[in-house]
Amino acid sequence: MLSVSEETGEETGKDTGQRFLVDLMLMRLGRWLRLLGQDVACPTGERDEELLCQAKEERRTIITRDKRLFLAAPGAGISCLLIRSSNIYDQLLEMAKAGVPLRLDPQRCTVCNGRLQEVKTLGIDRWQCSACKKLYWEGGHWQKMENMLQSIRSQIEENALPSNSRR
Ligand SMILES: [Zn+2]
Repeated sequence: MLSVSEETGEETGKDTGQRFLVDLMLMRLGRWLRLLGQDVACPTGERDEELLCQAKEERRTIITRDKRLFLAAPGAGISCLLIRSSNIYDQLLEMAKAGVPLRLDPQRCTVCNGRLQEVKTLGIDRWQCSACKKLYWEGGHWQKMENMLQSIRSQIEENALPSNSRR
């Protein structure tokens, strides 16, 4: 059973070495994973072969809803996670079961996956993307996202669900 520790901070900031590549159907999940501090690339091509090539070159784990791609990945020496749900809440739940901590962790730009750098102006903590220069701060939407993650974490604790995401 994989557990997600939320407040201990043990897993944050630690580079697990796992990098992801989402398919075109999971771009929204990809942006969420970036909010959780994960390194998530978007596909540069549409075809399965292009995705497999990119994952291999960039040493990334593919996250997909496409069962055919999921089955093809091991043969190409690529690790792959199959997501079953079509809604973002359950998709995040599946990622949590695969070991991704559900905690907001501003390290990656949600737009371009660039690294964020902390910028302090007038005592306000903000983060700026080193690539596209987008600025981030903890606004009202931050609390909404935190609430959603909290509710998923509670669901995990309540159910102690069987892990079926990692295959
Ligand atoms: Zn950016």
